[in-house]
Amino acid sequence: MQHVILGTGPAGVLAAEAIRKHKPADTIVLVGDENEPPYSRMAIPYLLAGDIAESGTYLRGGRDHFGLLRVELIDGRAERVDTVARTVHLTGGRSLPYDRLLLTTGSRPVRPRIPGIDHPKVLSCWTLEDARAIARALRPGARILQMGAGFIGCIIMEGLSTRGRLTVVEMGDRVVPRMMTPAASAMIQRWCASKGVEFATSTQVNAIEADGDDKLLKVVLGKDPREFDVIVCATGVKPAVEYLKGSRVSIGPEGGIVVDLSMRTNLAEVYAAGDCTEAEDFSTGESFVNAIQPDAADQSLIAALNMAGQPVAWRGALRMNVLATFGLVSSSFGQWWGTEGGEHVEVIDDMRFKYLRLELQDDRVIGATSVGLKDHVGALRGLIQTRTRLTPHWKATLMHDPHKFMDAYLACAQDAA
Ligand SMILES: Cc1cc2nc3c(=O)[nH]c(=O)nc-3n(C[C@H](O)[C@H](O)[C@H](O)COP(=O)(O)OP(=O)(O)OC[C@H]3O[C@@H](n4cnc5c(N)ncnc54)[C@H](O)[C@@H]3O)c2cc1C
Repeated sequence: MQHVILGTGPAGVLAAEAIRKHKPADTIVLVGDENEPPYSRMAIPYLLAGDIAESGTYLRGGRDHFGLLRVELIDGRAERVDTVARTVHLTGGRSLPYDRLLLTTGSRPVRPRIPGIDHPKVLSCWTLEDARAIARALRPGARILQMGAGFIGCIIMEGLSTRGRLTVVEMGDRVVPRMMTPAASAMIQRWCASKGVEFATSTQVNAIEADGDDKLLKVVLGKDPREFDVIVCATGVKPAVEYLKGSRVSIGPEGGIVVDLSMRTNLAEVYAAGDCTEAEDFSTGESFVNAIQPDAADQSLIAALNMAGQPVAWRGALRMNVLATFGLVSSSFGQWWGTEGGEHVEVIDDMRFKYLRLELQDDRVIGATSVGLKDHVGALRGLIQTRTRLTPHWKATLMHDPHKFMDAYLACAQDAA
């Protein structure tokens, strides 16, 4: 049996290892197009902040990790997949036949289509090569404009601000608008501002202009013309699936590869996992792209087991965002925005940058948002993911003091057991 895996990010690497564990005699080929040792994008903020070297981003140490596992690692880009002939065609002419194909090609950054956006000093922060370009472009005191304050934007802020003076522009009215409640967003923004970051929310950059000798980039923020040495774009990502054009593999409304709960696509021998997929939301049942690493890891293991002939089903994608911005930890889980007819409890401690909000539906916690909470955050996830039923006593206790979530989880889970 020949397994071909496209993409050498966490999903591809974990899947290759899991298939090898269960199928010692099968052939496994892992293809990546970045010409780097397999690495984790999650480590890039630490690289930018100077906390780790490039090797610290590598997913696996050891000189010949993949060789020892008998996984063939190929530098190449999948250009086209012929699902009738069961062959992947790489740029340059090489082709790879497969019995089972796993698509783990992740996502790519998207930029707003505005004049000047393709200037060489407008950078993304997605790949190791991007991180190198940012490091080259910045010098102490540089003026940096970051476009976008979503999940990735908030993660890279600290690393960028160690390299210059950071201004963040966000077209929404607050930071992380698709991940946190308004009160939590406001608290995170206030914290980052106290660390020296300047924010312009509800503001859009409509054009970028270079000065005469191409050294400075000019933009208008609100009504103010401003100059920056470099612009970093963190304006979202989309699944990397262009090589599937004409392949018969189904793409969903959000642009991701549609998978079922065994990570199988609409074609029996083709699987997909990680950022490039569109899967069922654990909370709502709707299909969506959940581009976070824990999901990529879970999905890749499910896909690998099924490819190795061990049927296993996933529980669906749980929304789960954990951020550390200048040391302030924040998180949101599940249906953090609540539901019609549901109840909520919210505790805000502005002075100490602490916040907790739980969303409930009947006798269950269905979503949570926290700021400044480090201990037992996993219990919030557990409460939601296990759909633990609260006894009337514990529901009343949580509505009075949501910080008792750990005790509630333990007591009610034990009761249920
Ligand atoms: C700066 C940064 C910080 C992040 N921090 C966090 C965090 O704190 N928490 C979190 O949960 N997530 C974080 N993420 C997101 C996380 O990195 C992704 O969810 C994760 O990398 C997804 O893994 P993946 O294997 O699906 O895709 P990827 O890691 O994107 O790997 C896909 C690989 O496939 C390759 N590829 C694409 N097309 C082709 C092709 N046609 N042929 C061959 N190869 C191809 C790509 O080049 C890439 O190497 C962060 C991302 C960034 C950029």
